[in-house]
Amino acid sequence: MDYVTQSDEATEAVGAQLFNALKGSGIVFLNGDLGAGKTTLCRGVLRALGYTGAVKSPTFTLVEPYELALGHVYHFDLYRLGHPDELNYLGVDEYFHDQAMCLVEWSQKGSGLLPKPDLEVTMMVTGDTERRLSVSAQTLKGQAALAGLRV
Ligand code: ADP
Ligand code: MG
Repeated sequence: MDYVTQSDEATEAVGAQLFNALKGSGIVFLNGDLGAGKTTLCRGVLRALGYTGAVKSPTFTLVEPYELALGHVYHFDLYRLGHPDELNYLGVDEYFHDQAMCLVEWSQKGSGLLPKPDLEVTMMVTGDTERRLSVSAQTLKGQAALAGLRV
């Protein structure tokens, strides 16, 4: 499933669609260079849950928990992770539970120690305000979500 967005809001809307297609829980890996719009997509997920506050990449803390009335979102940014083993100290297993929505920027830095994502989003900068997003499924749950996105 591919998208082309022309604004922050359009990328946020894709985030909201992914959240709805996954019925509020699942694991989403976000790939793409700095400035590709990974955090913007996460903001869209959080806006779909009614969160109006600031959403920034948790580059130094590695994870930002949002335990909202409408659902739990854990936003990871593993850019500064030195070694995947450091994830053990974060206690990631606690975050990756059935009811949570886990969004992971720079998932490749945690390779081998993260569960398989339901959806993987690859984002590319194709213009000043244009981004191309490609969404693929890695699990049955992800496939069901993708099928929901296609209709
Ligand atoms: P990342 O988390 O991938 O580093 P961010 O979401 O933090 O990226 O930043 C994306 C930047 O690109 C923001 O400054 C945003 O305003 C800008 N931008 C321009 N066009 C878009 C678009 N279509 N979708 C998402 N972000 C966009
Ligand atoms: Mg980011």
